[in-house]
Amino acid sequence: MALLEINREECIGCGACVEACPFGSLRLDEENIAVVDETCTACGACISECPVEALSLPEVKKVEVEDISAYQGVWVWVEQFKGEAGSISWEMTGQGRKLADRLGTTLTACVLGHNVEHIAEEAIAYGADRVFLVDDPTLSVYRTDPYARCLVELVRKYKPEIFLLGASSRGRDLAGAVATQLYTGLTADCTGLDIEPDTN
Ligand code: SF4
Ligand code: SF4
Repeated sequence: MALLEINREECIGCGACVEACPFGSLRLDEENIAVVDETCTACGACISECPVEALSLPEVKKVEVEDISAYQGVWVWVEQFKGEAGSISWEMTGQGRKLADRLGTTLTACVLGHNVEHIAEEAIAYGADRVFLVDDPTLSVYRTDPYARCLVELVRKYKPEIFLLGASSRGRDLAGAVATQLYTGLTADCTGLDIEPDTN
């Protein structure tokens, strides 16, 4: 449905709006009144052309845009299986360290599982500045929902600007679930990472 509203009572059929529309969306009907079709893009170019102010666009509801400057730091998910971190996790930690250094920010490792404190210590040894350790029996074996719920809660609360997850089958699964719940972007199958120094 076209957004442009035409006050048929006011229109005097001068045709100025028809001339002004760059998209050919307006015409005069059999009663010599302006009508708009579906091709209207709501650009507003016709509105000021109308001598009797018969055209208007309804207020478009403003969408609240979150202040993304509140998001800081690089995070990495440390994938573990039966209490052992996968080598991919340490690769991601190394990449995360480089990105964090380029951005002048911190690197945080997220370790989820049960009895996995030793992995948190390893994460520090591999270059993380801090670790979020969520240790619970329900996390001992990877399952999408509880893992995604944990990470989503952490992201909402502590707001990282970049979150890296290795492209293993579980990493892909988890990244998709987390991105969906956060309504955020996801760059899949990334083989290299860098930051534009000027624009981040
Ligand atoms: S709002 Fe723009 S696209 Fe729509 S009818 Fe007017 S000039 Fe054409
Ligand atoms: S410019 Fe205004 S008065 Fe003229 S045809 Fe369009 S809507 Fe009607």
